Amino acid sequence: MTSQIEEIKDRLDIAQVISEYIKLKKVGANYRALCPFHSEKNPSFYVSPSRQIWHCFGCGKGGDVFKFVMMMEGTEFKEALEILAKKAGVEIRREPIQTRTEKQRILDICELATKFFEKQLGETKTGKKAKEYLLSRKISQESIEKWRLGYAPNTWRGLSDFLVSKGYKRTEIVKAGLAVESEDKEKSTPYDRFRGRIMFPIFNLQGQVIGFGGRTTEDIKTITGKELSSTQHPESKYINTPNTLVYSKSRILYGVHEAKTEVRKKDNCILVEGYTDVILSSQEGTKNIVSTSGITLTPYQLKVLSRYTKNFILGFDMDIAGEAATQKGIDIAQFQGFNIKIVSLPEGKDPADVISENPGRWQKLIETSQEIVNFYFQKALKGFNKKTLEGKKEISKLLLPFIARIQNKIEQAHWIKELAKELNVKEEAIWEEVKKTAKEQKVGTEIPETPEIEEREKPKTRQRLLEERLLMLFLKFPEEIRKSKEILKFSFEEGEKLFQSLRGGEKLPKDLSEFISLLELQYEFEREKGEINPEQEIQFCINSLQKFSKDEKIRKIINELKIAEAAGDKNKISKLLKKISQL
Ligand SMILES: [Zn+2]
Repeated sequence: MTSQIEEIKDRLDIAQVISEYIKLKKVGANYRALCPFHSEKNPSFYVSPSRQIWHCFGCGKGGDVFKFVMMMEGTEFKEALEILAKKAGVEIRREPIQTRTEKQRILDICELATKFFEKQLGETKTGKKAKEYLLSRKISQESIEKWRLGYAPNTWRGLSDFLVSKGYKRTEIVKAGLAVESEDKEKSTPYDRFRGRIMFPIFNLQGQVIGFGGRTTEDIKTITGKELSSTQHPESKYINTPNTLVYSKSRILYGVHEAKTEVRKKDNCILVEGYTDVILSSQEGTKNIVSTSGITLTPYQLKVLSRYTKNFILGFDMDIAGEAATQKGIDIAQFQGFNIKIVSLPEGKDPADVISENPGRWQKLIETSQEIVNFYFQKALKGFNKKTLEGKKEISKLLLPFIARIQNKIEQAHWIKELAKELNVKEEAIWEEVKKTAKEQKVGTEIPETPEIEEREKPKTRQRLLEERLLMLFLKFPEEIRKSKEILKFSFEEGEKLFQSLRGGEKLPKDLSEFISLLELQYEFEREKGEINPEQEIQFCINSLQKFSKDEKIRKIINELKIAEAAGDKNKISKLLKKISQL
């Protein structure tokens, strides 16, 4: 195992891997970024390719490439190993299916099901009809393969029986969301959830299938010439995998595995509702696009997006009143400082319609998308009469929340001025109202941390930070260590060991190499911020540490003093008081 891990590390460039998740900027020998694990304005997240480590000097998280992938993907080590082995082209020994974890088995089931559906799309009679339908919607053969579209046959247990023949249990197929328990569990075996539907596999960030969207349409009914079975309600035009161990609807951004590189490159992401919107847009060359799967923008989705960009373009129909839930997502995004633009879609059309009619037009619509505030400005002014008092009130009621959420003060000032001009009122009055609105809005819009990264590393004590800083300086300026006559004792083993070997001018212990790398990186990080005066800084650290240990001693004596006082031990009290005054 260790040799495999080392081999993977050797083959991969840590900066390359991390840059697939977040935007890195080169600074000297390192790379720098805004930390994806805590929110910050100035980048303190560093990647050192030569040392093959990363570290955030803001929140203290750090480690190697495996740790990064685990934290970013919210996975166990085993899964991170698989992801990175794949990237590195290293074969890892697969375990027999009985011993794989439940999560892995669900992923296996999803993969097998995808293959099953793909095969059906090309080969069976109704599957071929479904494919004709896709092609008629201008989805190319290439896209069908790339997005692994498939067809679920209109049978009760076609998929389930296939999966059982591959060694999976029916209960597991239910857990993967692909089968449904019969009402009478005792009597009847679970049946396939997706029947007679075009299947859209849903992928995670690495492109593994984790769930499905199944779609049936009026059009397909006429193509297959067959009525839907009576258990399928007319409203279930789309159905999705329910939440499973690997799939959660509120977390999905369909297409993000394909879009992420392009999103980072363009520093912009287009958000649409439907799967076909993504497929067609990507097919026509606009690849920085993901789908929210027809639901609202959730805080989690925003969190994922913010790893790649702070700019997005909404490609769905936005009414001024909007759906309350969608509005909530936009509110949070605006608060988080996302720049939001809106595409003006022709009435009643979705992006897929526009693209299949005229791909060039889609491109144009994206290019001419409007800033969200501008968009709402025009809508509000169109909707109400700004000449009447009533109209003025309505317009400001609509626009003030948007303006209040603008994080950039200059931009905000601009829109306040505009609104004052349009309504023919004093700017000050609008400023007043914006302030009021901003206060009301402040509540409940924080983006929650993703559960995977919620557990925080224990923050280092101030003493520990000072000690590490001192060691960093001694490491970089070994001549200072000889000049210094202070007696120093470090509170942690690694620190004491490093100090001793530095003072003795010895070769640095090998088992400290990780710790030393980190100190070196910390030095580079600090140099980035400005000149370091070693002598002065070392003195500062030593003084602070000495004061710290003195305070610590006094604190202890005071505790003893309390006990002595409670016991009425006069002798002891006077001794302790003397000690304190000495200190
Ligand atoms: Zn951080």
